[in-house]
Order: sequence, then C-alpha cells, then structure tokens
Amino acid sequence: MPTHVTLIPGDGIGPGITDATVRILEAAGAELTYDQQLAGMAAVAAHNDPMPDVTIASIKRTRLALKGPLETPVGGGYRSVNVALRKAFDLYANVRPARTMRPGGRYENVDIVLIRENTEGLYIGIEHYIPIDGDPKAAAESVALITRAGSERIVRYGFEYAVAHGRKKVTLVHKANILKYSSGLFLEVGKEVAKEYAGRVECEDRIVDACAMQLVMKPESFDVIVTTNLFGDILSDEISGLVGGLGLAPGGNIGAHAALFEAVHGTAPDIAGKGIANPGALLLAACMMLDHIGDTKRAARIRQAFERTLREGKTLTRDLGGKANTEQFTDAIIAAL
Ligand code: NAD
Repeated sequence: MPTHVTLIPGDGIGPGITDATVRILEAAGAELTYDQQLAGMAAVAAHNDPMPDVTIASIKRTRLALKGPLETPVGGGYRSVNVALRKAFDLYANVRPARTMRPGGRYENVDIVLIRENTEGLYIGIEHYIPIDGDPKAAAESVALITRAGSERIVRYGFEYAVAHGRKKVTLVHKANILKYSSGLFLEVGKEVAKEYAGRVECEDRIVDACAMQLVMKPESFDVIVTTNLFGDILSDEISGLVGGLGLAPGGNIGAHAALFEAVHGTAPDIAGKGIANPGALLLAACMMLDHIGDTKRAARIRQAFERTLREGKTLTRDLGGKANTEQFTDAIIAAL
C-alpha cells in the first residue's frame, strides 16, 4: 500500500528541488503517492491566502508532508506559514541531523542530531512594550514559557529517538545557572525522564554557552542534543555549519498526529529560476520521511547514492564547489542508485 504524502513545492527554488527530489524517490521505487498543495507566496498568488484550507485539510488527511521553502515577507505582510503549520499540527519536536558527508571539510567525524522544542520557550510570541514617563518603548518584555508537560514530551522524544536509532548519549542543553526557573524546570524534568533510560542511553547536561564552544572544539563528542526553542534554533545553525552549511541540512517537525519534513534553507531568491539549486537538503529530508514511515532500507540506499555522488565530486552543484545544474546533479544521484 503506498503512503500518501502532502507535497508542498513552495516558493523560489522550492519547485525545482521538489521535482528533483520526487524524481530520485521514484527512481528508488519509493511507494508514495503525492497530494500536491500550495502554501506561502505561491498560495497567495493562487488563493490569496498563504495557508489555504485545502492544504491544511490535505495534511490532516495524510498526516505526512514534504515541504519546500516558503517565502516570508520581512516586516509587514503575513506571518510565517512555517510557524503557523507547526502550531496548527502541534509539531513539537524539531529534529535536525547533521553528519559529515564530504571529505576534506573542517571536521571529519560529526554525527549529531539536534532535537529542539518547537512550541514553547521564548518563541511563543508573548511580548509587549512597557511605557514609562511618556516613552512608549521604554522597556520591552518577552515571556519564555516552559511547561513540565512540554519539557517532558520533548526530552522523552529525544530518548526514544536515541533508542530507535541506536544512539548512545543524550545531552540536555540549558542555562539553568541563570534562568533558574524556566531553564531550571526543563533540566529538572529532563533529568527525571533520563532515569527511565538509565543503562540504555547515557545522559549528560551542558550549559548552552559552553556547549556552543565545545561544538566547535570537539563536535565528535556529541550524539543527540535535546534543548529548548531559542537555544535549539541557534545551535542547529551552528551544527549545520560544522558539516558544510545549509545545502545539506534537512529537518523534521514531528507531532503526535502529523509530521512535516523540509530543508532547513530558505527560498534562495538570489538563484531562484536559474535551475542551479542543490536539492540535497530536501532529498535528505525525504529520507527522514522514509525513516519515519518505516522504509529505512530505502532511505539508507538513497543516502548512500547521495554520499557517493558527493564523494566522487564529479557532478556537484555550485554551492558544493561544482559546475552542474540541478538536473545534472539529480541524474548523477539516480545513476549512483
Ligand atoms: P536562504 O536559505 O534562502 O539563502 C541563503 C543563501 O544560501 C543564499 O545565498 C542561497 O542562494 C543559498 N542557498 C540556500 N539554499 C540553497 C540550495 N538548496 N542550493 C544552493 N544554494 C542555496 O535564506 P534567506 O535568503 O535568508 O531567505 C530567503 C527566503 O526564504 C525568505 O523569505 C525567508 O523567510 C525564507 N525562508 C524559508 C524557510 C522555510 O520555509 N523553511 C527557511 C528559511 C528561510
């Protein structure tokens, strides 16, 4: 039985890298059927709505989505559709694996999965100005909301992920020495959950600033990292930098009732329409999706073909130091399959 997937090509380079990814999935024989839907700027053009009801209805049905990048207007205009989708489907776990795939980079042995809480913390949008003495913006206040339930489910997700993927260690990252209440609660709950996995998965904790430094000094000492929204946002970009940048960084947004997989990068307006974008990050996101639905062998085979193409280095897109366009790179990956 094929699995139904909501496919959202997105804006900018999105449609090009989505076509390439679907071509590779089909060449690998993935048993998927696609319900193609719009979101972002493309949906504004077609439906005058960046997140149309039909797209939401499709994800409700399939509970699985593969999504290209979406344009978010800076300043005015509509709010981020990516954030709205995470909220609409309570996609509480943001999972970002980063592994060294190309020889000759700065680090040889990076293999880190960062799991970030996606729905609470400092990003919940409870903010206001405090007027004092006629100055309407004399002070500003943003609330970092951490809950016991939210901390418990993200840490548990992290440990379950570690068990399911044969990983040995979870590092809880926090700032409980200063943020004694919010970060303190996350750490307290995290340590409680960790006890249930004692003997199976090791647990350690790191203060976020020290963690940022150790990631650069000794990235090979990390395995799975679980942290709150803001710290996860910052550290996940740092970690993608350790393994060659955004072009190779996939992400999954997982909830109890739906999962959405995407590339970490944006719409790349500077190269959109030129046919030269690297489909790698979206392809790796599609592999995470295959893992999620239990088709792990096929995911591994596609990753191997992709890595072989990277290692051979003959047919690479420009961001990877080559001269190939999206189509030629895609053909090379299919040949390696
Ligand atoms: P970006 O990731 O689009 O681009 C940053 C740089 O990386 C650019 O030079 C771009 O050419 C390059 N790049 C990115 N992906 C590439 C790929 N696959 N192949 C080759 N080169 C690639 O970031 P930005 O310019 O800050 O954002 C552009 C738009 O994307 C904005 O509207 C932003 O809101 C949106 N965005 C969306 C998402 C998402 O939907 N998940 C994520 C980030 C940014």
